[in-house]
Amino acid sequence: MAEPLLEVKDLKVSFRTEDGLVRAVDGISFSVDEGEVVGIVGESGSGKSVTMMSVMRLINDPNAIYQGEILFKGRNLMGVSQDAMREVRGEEIAMIFQDPMTSLNPVYTVGWQIEEQLNEHNDLNKGQARQRAIALLTQVGIPKPEQRIDDYPHQFSGGMRQRVMIALALSCNPDLLIADEPTTALDVTIQAQILELVKSLKREFGSAVVLITHDLGVVADIADRILVMYAAPRIRSCRQRSETGTWMPVTSRSRTSGSDATGRSTPSWRRRREFTERQGADLAAPPGGRAGFARAAG
Ligand code: ADP
Ligand code: MG
Repeated sequence: MAEPLLEVKDLKVSFRTEDGLVRAVDGISFSVDEGEVVGIVGESGSGKSVTMMSVMRLINDPNAIYQGEILFKGRNLMGVSQDAMREVRGEEIAMIFQDPMTSLNPVYTVGWQIEEQLNEHNDLNKGQARQRAIALLTQVGIPKPEQRIDDYPHQFSGGMRQRVMIALALSCNPDLLIADEPTTALDVTIQAQILELVKSLKREFGSAVVLITHDLGVVADIADRILVMYAAPRIRSCRQRSETGTWMPVTSRSRTSGSDATGRSTPSWRRRREFTERQGADLAAPPGGRAGFARAAG
């Protein structure tokens, strides 16, 4: 079997704080195959963002402590220099966030920002960069892209700005796109359109996608596999698509061993209750004395 595109092995991320050590992620393992769409769901604070920001090496808190391995195409990104990491981020892994306004620069046109990004990693002349930017805007469903390319971010609606963010992310033709709650700030109809777009990326770009959300319903439809993260120890879940394309819950054998016969991680939707009850858990002083962390495996 081909090696996974991304393999996270026993990743632990803690932060030294005045109140003690916050174990944001405690021993998470999962993998993502080429072209696969993996959903990560979990309550707020369960470590979803910290996990994927660690993959991108974008956590710049000097108090962060890491353990474990992050293998991307077999290479451990944990040991890679920031310069080399910038290349990985520009060419191989891209990330989009909940609020596009924090990532788009309000003083430059949308087109300028996409062209700038294209120029950083490609050798294109001005006309070529503009053509490519228009093509990307077309692909993410911006109407009249030849005109809209010269607009500023504030002239776009929230959903359209998220599309622009996706265009920016795709400009590097990434093998892996990480979307961290990309639809949370959007209304329901627009959410559905953005998810449809994310789904089409696999088809048109062959990109693998990791889609983070706190809403199971959002990913149920588009993910090949779902990992559930809990702010509670030793629980891990997932379900996988069966051969026929329907959803098959994989039942849990043991709450602590966490693996079923297929070697996949184990799910149980009955744990939804625990999931909600633990919301707002104080991770620096978790129930049971151990920090609460999410565990998921694929
Ligand atoms: P999620 O994305 O699942 O909502 P996060 O990954 O953002 O959760 O956060 C996981 C936990 O780590 C939270 O309890 C959060 O408060 C904590 N955390 C994140 N970043 C820091 C930091 N820089 N310093 C201290 N604690 C942090
Ligand atoms: Mg988050």
